[in-house]
Amino acid sequence: MPVNIAAYKQISTDLSKAKVSLVAVSKTRPVEEILGLYHLGQKDFGENYVQELVEKYERLPKDIRWHFIGHLQTNKVKYIAPFVSLIQSVDSKKLLNEINKQAQKNNCIIDCLLQVHIAEEETKFGFNESELAEIMNSDFSQLKNIQIIGLMGMASLTSDRKKIGNEFRYLKNQFDKYSQSSIINYQFSILSMGMSADYKMAVEEGSNMVRIGSLLFGNRD
Ligand SMILES: *Cc1c(COP(=O)(O)O)cnc(C)c1O
Repeated sequence: MPVNIAAYKQISTDLSKAKVSLVAVSKTRPVEEILGLYHLGQKDFGENYVQELVEKYERLPKDIRWHFIGHLQTNKVKYIAPFVSLIQSVDSKKLLNEINKQAQKNNCIIDCLLQVHIAEEETKFGFNESELAEIMNSDFSQLKNIQIIGLMGMASLTSDRKKIGNEFRYLKNQFDKYSQSSIINYQFSILSMGMSADYKMAVEEGSNMVRIGSLLFGNRD
């Protein structure tokens, strides 16, 4: 199935009016399709698998901003650290320490989002409320090569719109809470929530970054 250009144009126009960033989730899709969107002006792409991301990075234009959005194993951070733009799926302090270490080796600062578990499904990763509080209150002074610039979450896979709305509202509240606190010396600026099925609702609830795959690229098998 080819890229849905009409859908891309509509969605990117609507989102830019609302000042919401669009991450095109290109996992499992070939480089030709990514280039199709790139030539229309799309620069932010999201991937879930380290090896796939590295291969695509090598083959595609270097001004693409790559977002890592899948579960990241600590032993694989080194492969993406030299070029990744934003790691959205930080789900442990151990991972954060490793990202810091690899960023140090690459002499760079890596932006990160903390992934918060807002869905009912156990299969999804992320911090619960108390774990998030714990990490936000921990000592970051040694981690000079990372910046936590916001939160990411995935709502439940359900047709219950009210439930999805509640989950997004909860995440927005957490985001606001930590945006206003001064426990870290950098600003929270990104609230990444919303996918193909629920991005409109996410934007209504205050998201400023959505991650959209199937609406642009068609359904993955
Ligand atoms: C696959 C994926 C998306 C995109 O999902 P679609 O339903 O295809 O839009 C967004 N976020 C994460 C974390 C994903 O793994």
